[in-house]
Amino acid sequence: MSVPHSEIIRLAIAGAAGRTGRCVLGRAAVDERFTVVAALVAPGCAAFGEIGRDARHESAFTDSLDVECDMLIDFTVAAGTVAWLDVCVARAMPMVIGATGHDAAQRLRIERASRTIPIVVAANFSVGVQAVMKWVGQLARDLGTAYDVEIVETHHRRKRDAPSGTALSIAVAVADATGRTLEHSAVYGRFGATGERPAGEIGIHSVRMGEIVSRHEIHFSGPGETITVRHEGHSRDTFALGALRAAAWVVGKSPGLYTMRDVLDSPDPSA
Ligand code: NAD
Repeated sequence: MSVPHSEIIRLAIAGAAGRTGRCVLGRAAVDERFTVVAALVAPGCAAFGEIGRDARHESAFTDSLDVECDMLIDFTVAAGTVAWLDVCVARAMPMVIGATGHDAAQRLRIERASRTIPIVVAANFSVGVQAVMKWVGQLARDLGTAYDVEIVETHHRRKRDAPSGTALSIAVAVADATGRTLEHSAVYGRFGATGERPAGEIGIHSVRMGEIVSRHEIHFSGPGETITVRHEGHSRDTFALGALRAAAWVVGKSPGLYTMRDVLDSPDPSA
């Protein structure tokens, strides 16, 4: 049963010294729903002990969670998720997972943990991207498999996984809407004598360059026309704000694996 949470939420942020984690830290610090009690970094991280300064709090970066807290937001890397997942399960504490690139075994661990704690997982916490994912399924359904689908994602040069979790989620939305599976229809880049493009393929392409925060383009090309849906993330604020909305939502929820769609389909009390 869902229990409404009226207290200030004591928040731990894992990956707090990273690009997105620092943004969550800054946004949480000026959000009256939260108080940041732990800014967690990887063991041996150079930022250990450094102060993450912001408007309301000064959070020292630390590598262990030894304070009382209500929930944890994870923007580490796939292996980091699993480490903090165990901590959350041991403390019966909700979790919001923003890190991406989990393999099948890691996804299984997240699914198992969600039998005992509530977890929101999203490859992209941007509200705009979530809306795109919803519309893209409808578009794919209307157009059908006569339209070729090509998904192109572009990110900064330091991104470690490809394709992006968001591109994969978009591809799943297209596949689900048109009775396909990624296993049988996805093609990741093309090279050499590929032959003609078979009908029904979903092409997924990754570009890595410069400082681009996040760009996703979904092209549908069919008889006489091409439709392109494009989302561009200009700053990590969009992820931070979405993750905080999910964090406020998940506290007090029953154990389960939730999506950002579950969060968005509930009224936003802070709006
Ligand atoms: P980053 O490399 O800047 O930050 C990751 C940080 O996590 C690093 O500082 C690293 O030292 C730290 N870390 C690694 N293991 C850790 C552990 N066990 N405990 C604590 N900290 C640990 O990367 P980034 O661009 O901030 O992205 C982080 C992750 O979030 C990536 O997987 C990325 O794909 C994902 N991401 C998701 C969204 C979303 O909306 N879901 C948005 C942006 C990024």
